Formats: sequence, C-alpha cells, structure tokens
Amino acid sequence: MKNILPFLLAASLLALFVSCGEPATPVDLKIVPNPVSVEYGGWGVKIPADATMPRLYAPIDKKLAPEEYILDTRRGKVKIRGGSDAAIFWGQQTLLQIIAQVKKQDGKRIPGVLIHDKPAFSYRGAHLDCCRHFFTVDEVKEFIDMIALHKINVFHWHLTEDQGWRAEIKAYPRLTEVGSVRAETLVGHYGSKEYDGTPYGGFYTQDEMRDVVAYAAAHHVTVIPEIEMPGHASAALASYPELGCRGADYPYKVQTTWGVFPEVFCAGNPETVTFLEKVLEEICDIFPSEYIHIGGDEAPREEWEKCPKCQALMKEKGFTREAELQSYLITTVEKYLADKGRKIIGWDEILDGGVSQSATVMSWRGAKGGIAAAKMGNDVIMTPNSHFYFDYYQTKDPADSGEPLAIGGYLPLRKCYSFDPFDQLNENEKAHIKGIQANIWTEYIATFDHVQQMALPRLAALAEVAWCPDNRTEYDDFVDRIVTGLLPIYDARGYNYAPYAFKDIE
Ligand SMILES: [Zn+2]
Repeated sequence: MKNILPFLLAASLLALFVSCGEPATPVDLKIVPNPVSVEYGGWGVKIPADATMPRLYAPIDKKLAPEEYILDTRRGKVKIRGGSDAAIFWGQQTLLQIIAQVKKQDGKRIPGVLIHDKPAFSYRGAHLDCCRHFFTVDEVKEFIDMIALHKINVFHWHLTEDQGWRAEIKAYPRLTEVGSVRAETLVGHYGSKEYDGTPYGGFYTQDEMRDVVAYAAAHHVTVIPEIEMPGHASAALASYPELGCRGADYPYKVQTTWGVFPEVFCAGNPETVTFLEKVLEEICDIFPSEYIHIGGDEAPREEWEKCPKCQALMKEKGFTREAELQSYLITTVEKYLADKGRKIIGWDEILDGGVSQSATVMSWRGAKGGIAAAKMGNDVIMTPNSHFYFDYYQTKDPADSGEPLAIGGYLPLRKCYSFDPFDQLNENEKAHIKGIQANIWTEYIATFDHVQQMALPRLAALAEVAWCPDNRTEYDDFVDRIVTGLLPIYDARGYNYAPYAFKDIE
C-alpha cells in the first residue's frame, strides 16, 4: 500500500491534465464596473472554437443578496451563483467582458478566477428624452441593451414634453393626434431664428410601450415612465387647451424651439386633476414600476399669478405663495398614485412649496437639492447636471475634437468618474441616497447614433459610481478597463462611442 499512494496521486494528476489541458495563462482581467473582489487561481475554462460562450452553470443561491453574484472559473466550468436571476444576469455581463478581452488577446481559455461582486446602489439609472427627438422602439431597446451591459438597472423614459407628447392615452386621443407633432424644429443653437419648416412627430402605442417594458424586464431593467406636470405641458395644452390658465380659446402650440415656457397646467381647474389622474391610470396599467416620475421641474408660476381659477383655489386653501399650488398638485397626484401602490419621483423643484416625506427627489441642479432633501429625510436619486448630464460636451474644444453640436457645458469622462455621492452627508443622511442616474436630453441629439456617442463611454463612469463608488481605481486604470473590457463589445455590437472622449487623459 505504501508504494501505491504516490502512483495513484500521479495518475490522478495526469487525469486532471488530460481533462483540462494546460493551466490558463494568467491574464489581468479588466472589468467595468470594478468587481468587489477578483482572485486568480485554478485551471480556467476553454472557450470552444465553435461557440462564442462556454457552457454556463447558473444556480440561484438565496444566501446571497438579490443582486450579488459569484463567478467561478477555477475548475474547468463557468459557474455563476447569484441571489436572483438579475444577479446571474449581471454575472453574465462580467463574463461577456472577460470573453471579449481573452479573444482579443487571441486566447482560447478564460483564466481561473473567482469574482465576488454586488452593487452599492439598488437604483442605477439612465434617462432618455424621447420627446425633443423621437427614437423608435428598436432604438429604445438598443438603449436598454447598452445600459444593461453596464449593469444599469433603471431606464427612465421621458415621454411628455413641450415639443411632443409620445405616449398613447386612450382617454385623451388628441394627446397623440395633436400633441405628438410639432410644425417644425429649430435649426442650430438656441437663439437661432432659423426653422426647418418640416413637421416632426412620433409616439408609442400602448402595445409598443408594453413591449419595451417586457424587453427591459428580460434584461433586468425596470422602466420608469415620466409624465411631466405642471410645466413642460405645451403639447398637452395644444391638445386640450381648456386645461391651461389661458383657457380653451387660446391657441397653444406644440413648441418648435427649446427652453422653459410659461404655459403650464391650470392648478385651479379641477379638470386638470381629473386629466392627470386618468393619464396616470393608463400609465400605471402599462408600467408595473414601483416609481412613477411626475416631472415637477421648470414650471413658471406667472400664469397662476394672473389666473382667476388658480387665485380662487389659493384663497380657498389659504395659500400665500404660488409655490404652494405646485405642492398641492404634486401631493394630490402622489396620493392618487399611493392608492395604486405606487410612489412618486420628481425633479428637485418638487421641494419648492413643501413636499411629503414619501416623495423621492431627483437632484439635477447640481447635488445641492439632493443634499437638502436627504437632510430633510426624503429619499434621493443623484443625477447632478455637474456630473451626469450626458447632453453636455465631452471635450473642451468641440470644434477641434469633431464633437457635434451639444446643448453646452463641459462634462468629460474624468469628471463623471469623480462624483462623490455622499458629499456633505452624515451616516443617517447617506442612507437616503438611493441611487445615481445619468440623463440624456435630446434637444440637440436627433439620431440614435448620436445618442450612443453621448452615452458611451460616459455610461461606464456612471456604472462605477453607482455600482462600486468605494472601489474606484485611478482614472488611468479606469480608462484602461474601458478600453480592454468594454470597447471590444462596443465594437462587436457596432455602438457608436465617442472616440474623442479619451482625449482628456492627462
Ligand atoms: Zn390657472
């Protein structure tokens, strides 16, 4: 017996060699967002010559958090354990990056690695304005593909605006018959006097919106629809002028230029509340999301100051400031949605005039609204224009860089990456920061190719801040991880990312 043991050991080692081939060449894997931990070791997994993916063994492990996953390639198989189907899906996104870079390096074997990963924030959002410019259902689905690749799990769908109402509402057919088309569009930058003379429109049927919701769910992305109130309402008022302070005879129009317009819903007309509730009833029927976004931003109050109906309501309610009318409308709608088991999110202006503590605030005018809201005890999604407005320029010298016309600003990849979500907050207040989001407003973005160029690679920075804010690396390393881990996938999928975005490396 004594002499047989070493022989058996040698034979079993030989068997291991035969079944697995030579050990994997160690590769320094580059992954965005940066996983919580990566340990190398073991044999790795051969990528079959005739397949893009090795076989995946994917068990649910209820001991893990809902979005936590463990990716293990140490023993000849790709295994992903996850706390839910979503967690396993995020693990697969990591696997895509690993395979892409191994193949790029001409490798046929995934190195042995144990990756343990989970997100810091449960809300990781990306917004797309489909009103200033309209994007088809297929383009919206591609946007969902893009964000899911970056482990972004919320698609905030901006559906109503001054320049176009995009959601079919059966109770109010004129919203899309009239409100989805503008007569023409401004040419060039704001302030230009030139228009293109061409009607522009488009909308989503309810079946199409349901199709998008299902597609997103299959990618573990929740769709949050946004219905703007009380401002950004020109398209709705062009359809139903009786809902505006200027009344049924006023020729409201779907706007043809950009900006903030005085035409808002009449807060003093009870029909306005009826309209908003009926619209939201249909929206809730289409979108199962816990949150419904009710806008609330950029609503001038001059019309309310002059409107007899609005002034009568103020008197009746004992309001002394028009801001309280905004608060009244928002809280009325919030109660209506709460009865349906939904919660509201609004832009940080909903804080004006007072807001209930159950409202979630989206801080867009920098981080200060979010900081104030967190200190008041409201939940907050940080989406500061200083760091996550992807309609801003990515280079300092757009003309030299070849960047197309944008709304303005300067928001390079480096700056997105530097955002501190917990600035100025104590431990209790930090708990109110529920997530991070980037916004893509499309006044100056007319094609989906251009959307991609504004989103990529900045979505990678959003992903890191939202998934692993405490596990970010030096900026140059982050860029290296994008170039190695993500660009091969962007290329393979034909994503039109901004090549000039990396110009800022110092
Ligand atoms: Zn009014």
